[in-house]
Amino acid sequence: MLSTFDWIRRSQTGAELLATLRVGAGDEQIQIKEDDGPSSHETSIGPPLSALSSPCHRCWVYPRTRWPEQADLYCPFCKDILIKARKLGAVAQRAAVIWGFVNQLPKTGLVKQESPESPVLGTYLHDSKRFLLIIKQRRLRPWLQQLVLYHGTELKGLLQIFPTVGATSGICMGDVLCRAIHHESRFAMDQLRVRFYSAPYQLIRPHEREQKGILTFDASEFLSLLEMAKVFRTLVRPREQDMLYELLQLEDPTEVQFYWGRIQGLLDQEVKDMLTAWRIRQWPKTRVKLLYELTNYVVFDESH
Ligand SMILES: [Zn+2]
Repeated sequence: MLSTFDWIRRSQTGAELLATLRVGAGDEQIQIKEDDGPSSHETSIGPPLSALSSPCHRCWVYPRTRWPEQADLYCPFCKDILIKARKLGAVAQRAAVIWGFVNQLPKTGLVKQESPESPVLGTYLHDSKRFLLIIKQRRLRPWLQQLVLYHGTELKGLLQIFPTVGATSGICMGDVLCRAIHHESRFAMDQLRVRFYSAPYQLIRPHEREQKGILTFDASEFLSLLEMAKVFRTLVRPREQDMLYELLQLEDPTEVQFYWGRIQGLLDQEVKDMLTAWRIRQWPKTRVKLLYELTNYVVFDESH
């Protein structure tokens, strides 16, 4: 019999992962635990692979659903996941995955609240130290802030944050998750750290990002970066963001000076003051890239 985690690892995409959590627990309560997973109602094993018959084409374990005329390709559980996943593509695209390996499971932030404002889309508690969370991407900052405020320095370990995998990315969501587990014990459990991957393939090749210093952060340092990204997204208009990005990626200092002078005429005084205070022109290009990546994980502050 497959465990809940076996089902989770079979997810090809973020939408399938989200659907697995939902099928596992029913649509209302999107939370499953190790021992009451979707496998509990499946007991028989499908026939061995042969020219005439084969088990479900997705899990390769359970029998395919049989109709009077012909057999389906999938077992009932896989079919249910695939149908639900079709409707969850857009939600999954705007979600982030968090794999947590911590000294104790947090007392807050792991369960979906009933309000539409709840950042949590799905949860799986693996054991007393590990959890999987699917969260609305743009709600990451308040979620992390609440976690850090509630637990202070008591909570230690590593939170790995990465995007979901789409249907055409050529990479499997389950494999990406296994890579996160592979990296989980890389650090001593002496503080709370965040590893932020802006693309799923970076979990397979994290060294490049690590060498550039844009992979691992202390949790409070990462929160400050998210706060900067939020202010940047709120104050700088999208076209100006694009112009600034191009300018800050230029190699030639004379060219940078020239375009910097020109863009000053377009920016509001508040933005100019902010960028000067940040000394953004002196930032390494990789740090600029990180700021722009993080703007996808914050909301536009309408109160400003
Ligand atoms: Zn199946």
